[in-house]
Amino acid sequence: MTELLSFDDVSKSYGDEQVLDGVSFAMEQSDVEVIIGPSGSGKSTMLRCVNRLTDIDDGAIYLDGHSIHDIGVNDLRRRVGMVFQDFNLFAHRTARGNITLGLRKVRGFSKEDAVAAADEHLERVGLADQAASYPAELSGGQKQRVGIARALAMDPELLLFDEPTSALDPELIGDVLSVMGDLADEGMTMLCVTHEMSFARSVADTITFLDDGRIAERGPPEQLFEAPETDRARDFLGEID
Ligand code: ADP
Ligand code: MG
Repeated sequence: MTELLSFDDVSKSYGDEQVLDGVSFAMEQSDVEVIIGPSGSGKSTMLRCVNRLTDIDDGAIYLDGHSIHDIGVNDLRRRVGMVFQDFNLFAHRTARGNITLGLRKVRGFSKEDAVAAADEHLERVGLADQAASYPAELSGGQKQRVGIARALAMDPELLLFDEPTSALDPELIGDVLSVMGDLADEGMTMLCVTHEMSFARSVADTITFLDDGRIAERGPPEQLFEAPETDRARDFLGEID
């Protein structure tokens, strides 16, 4: 069984600051992995390295057995979807238009096929009735569900989520987490940075605790949450509970 995603001793610095320091881990298909850790510990950088929004200095990252540097960057970003904290929607395009853009440009769909596929994905995230709405007309939770539908429309092998609910009002978080839970149930492979510990507990197969650019601890949720082995993880979990 090949690993879908693996990091082999990955390091990354910005100037003098080492942000990732010898990070190694692997995920198999359909795994859901949640990364937790203090602000500035390198969580976003870890995700951004996977689809080459930033490049690593040392080590290697493999997608389905191939170094990401041997995969064309456009192909890589088609295969690895990303959902951002601040949605990154195009303001001047409707919900449907945000999704058809990539389908037409990246996947070469005809206009009719792109519209049909976009509407199907909007339905999947509970937004069938908002296809013609512009981002400014949507709530934060709806915007994020458009972001997820847009990522799904590329038919990715792996989805990256960088604090997808952190910008949302509390009452809107549940809808987004429930879509993410459904995706996990359907077998989507997901690497998620989130502070939503109830989601992490109930959905993740594995939790990685990142501290100062290193994996300080990694294991199933029950181990990380009930019996953390490091003081750093214990302190961190004590602060956010
Ligand atoms: P986290 O997501 O865990 O909060 P980040 O990966 O965003 O952490 O950042 C880790 C460290 O790298 C921080 O100290 C941050 O200031 C620094 N950093 C992140 N992106 C850049 C960048 N583009 N240029 C310089 N420093 C950066
Ligand atoms: Mg971050």
